[in-house]
Amino acid sequence: MCRRIPAPVRLKIKSVIPLTFPQARETVLERVRSQVRSQGQPAGETVALEEAAGRVLAEDVAADRDCPPLDRSVRDGYAVRASDVPGRLKLAGEVRAGERHEGRVGPGEAVAIMTGAPIPAGADAVVMIEHTTREDGWVRTESSAEPRQFINPQGSEAAARETVLRAGKRLDYTDIAMLAAFGRARIRVFARPVAAIVPTGDEIVEIGETPREFQIRNSNAYSLAAQVARAGGLPRRLPVARDTVEATRHAIHQGLEADLLLLSGGVSAGKYDVVEQALAELGAEFYFDRVLIQPGQPLVFGSAQGKFFFGLPGNPSSTMVTFEVFARAALELLGGQEETLLPMPWARLTRDFHHRAGLTRFLPARISADGGEVTPVPWQGSGDVPALTRANAYLVADPERPEYAAGDWIRILLK
Ligand code: AMP
Ligand code: MG
Repeated sequence: MCRRIPAPVRLKIKSVIPLTFPQARETVLERVRSQVRSQGQPAGETVALEEAAGRVLAEDVAADRDCPPLDRSVRDGYAVRASDVPGRLKLAGEVRAGERHEGRVGPGEAVAIMTGAPIPAGADAVVMIEHTTREDGWVRTESSAEPRQFINPQGSEAAARETVLRAGKRLDYTDIAMLAAFGRARIRVFARPVAAIVPTGDEIVEIGETPREFQIRNSNAYSLAAQVARAGGLPRRLPVARDTVEATRHAIHQGLEADLLLLSGGVSAGKYDVVEQALAELGAEFYFDRVLIQPGQPLVFGSAQGKFFFGLPGNPSSTMVTFEVFARAALELLGGQEETLLPMPWARLTRDFHHRAGLTRFLPARISADGGEVTPVPWQGSGDVPALTRANAYLVADPERPEYAAGDWIRILLK
């Protein structure tokens, strides 16, 4: 049931003073971090290691033994006493990975050793096989050896009981390797945050329908669902809300059951853009409702009934870009992640580029395979999804710099 809040309602108008891109991003990070701090961590669940990649760790993890568990060779060669080389050494055996040499390496002796094998007692260095010659029963090396060379000492990577991973880390494949190495077949992770997706618009029809010429299929709900899933969240798509305050308020009310509410459309200054009014009627607090970016200038961010919401402008590229540069961070932090990244590395433009100063622009572009070069992709504006599919990145144009020449550095954002 959608109960109307009886408090007097003031129709929200767009802020006179919009935020810059960095100010708006900082606002999102600060607001969400402070709520996460005061409300504590999300609920946890236990998953099998095979299911854990991409999930956010909910426990601190300690090494169950020294890593490596003993001094280990990092080369194929001979275990020796460093003080014996250069010289001619008597071959006193062989040790492979997966076994231990029982004897000691005495003065004037060498033991053949394979990468990964434990260093035999008595030896304090490994000489690479490439630097030796073998004469039956003897090994000769012309090179000298530093004590401990090519030895990976016991516990040098991690000591037993040392904390190696902390709660709040989103697990990547290197984390999975370490958890496997420490025998963690099951692991505590945070429950995925649920993001409700509420599309708005009288012209929007569901994708199974045949749209009339003046209608548009609901692509935003699907791109958002894909972005939410990629960010580690669980998308919950709700039906399209019609452009009335009543219908929108009802949809928002339902969406606020999720951990995060994402609305698409209805936040511009038009007569039928009723999202802000509907939010205001539900007692929303607005942190900003205009950002100096393109696409996505009318972006709205606030909270209502203890939940954060984003009113994402409806043009497909506006929805996609504003999710990526603002809402994704909120979702990741709500999911228990300690850190949320938005890398914007530099690349060289392959051609001249200019834009009107004043807005940070995220425009479709193609980067070279090594990421070093970037070329703008022609597009027809914020609704041009086909152009976005031809891009593999966005170029990020500086609001204070209208002119770029071919060869200039410009920031990029990976798609
Ligand atoms: P709005 O932000 O509501 O003014 O919407 C701007 C434009 O975005 C509309 O004219 C539609 O073409 C497009 N649009 C809005 N919602 C969606 C949606 N769910 N899927 C695809 N396009 C949309
Ligand atoms: Mg609309």
